[in-house]
Amino acid sequence: MAGRIIDGKAVAAEMRAELKAKVDELKRRGVVPGLAVVLVGDDPASRSYVTAKERACEQVGIYSDDNRLPAETGQEELMALVERLNADPKIHGILVQLPLPKHMDENEVLLAIDPAKDVDGFHPMSVGKMMVGQETFLPCTPHGIIQLLVRSGVQIEGAEVVVVGRSNIVGRPIANMLIQKNKTGNATVTVCHTRTKGLAEHVRRADIVIAAAGMPNMITADMVKQGAVVIDVGVNRVEDATKKKGYRLVGDVDFEAVKEKASLITPVPGGVGPMTITMLLYNTVESATKAMKK
Ligand code: NDP
Repeated sequence: MAGRIIDGKAVAAEMRAELKAKVDELKRRGVVPGLAVVLVGDDPASRSYVTAKERACEQVGIYSDDNRLPAETGQEELMALVERLNADPKIHGILVQLPLPKHMDENEVLLAIDPAKDVDGFHPMSVGKMMVGQETFLPCTPHGIIQLLVRSGVQIEGAEVVVVGRSNIVGRPIANMLIQKNKTGNATVTVCHTRTKGLAEHVRRADIVIAAAGMPNMITADMVKQGAVVIDVGVNRVEDATKKKGYRLVGDVDFEAVKEKASLITPVPGGVGPMTITMLLYNTVESATKAMKK
């Protein structure tokens, strides 16, 4: 029997409605949550992510401060902007869209963001706090995955989880979050990467598979245990002459075949993707709430 599809758009809509109610309450108390988005250059993918983030802010009533700088902007100018946003009381979250142009030092920029406004959760202070289980902003994609699991009623505690991918933005943080000794953790986690031997055997053991490799259709049905929960983070373009753009988006999982074996599975698009932006809104609202209590 085919597994149930986890509808990321529906979960994201549910969370955005909850966030809108929180934003309305903050506004009644005189605080308008504000997110500053910084985009350097005109990479089309980055531009469309930034536009989607700004649109999502508008949807829940968050003030969005749009900072688009030309590709040739100097490091000092960008650092000065970050400092200005750090000091601006209207701004509760700062998001610098990555990647930055090659002449810029990304680490220096991320380090300059006030950790109290680090709604992307990429500042080393936030990463360190997450690692040792202290309260902090959690990075958006892995936090979104946790929300999808929890809101779909998946038992995380005690589950055997296999994560494919070890990047700083998905693989490592999701693995870390799932081994935390808390109510959304307590799983047993294996992290696989390009040097892993016997990837298929590892994946076959998993109650929950999290595929974040960026390789179209690499997780095939023979690699998945009957009844496993499969979360597909991958977003890959594959050529498709029948589409106007000449390509379509697919995940890392062979969706059609794997859905016949999985108990729950996320589609691409419409799975993890909508949750990433939602968690950015969530962190911004949390930040504004904390600022109000100070
Ligand atoms: P990276 O390229 O930074 O990392 C990919 C990871 O996968 C690496 O650790 C790499 O191993 C591992 N990997 C790649 N190929 C294989 C393979 N054949 N076998 C085993 N491991 C492999 O990617 P990201 O983490 O940034 O993103 C992963 C995917 O998720 C991409 O498709 C990206 O577009 C998507 N994504 C989606 C988001 C969303 O909101 N839906 C958000 C962020 C990312 P090694 O370390 O050894 O090189």
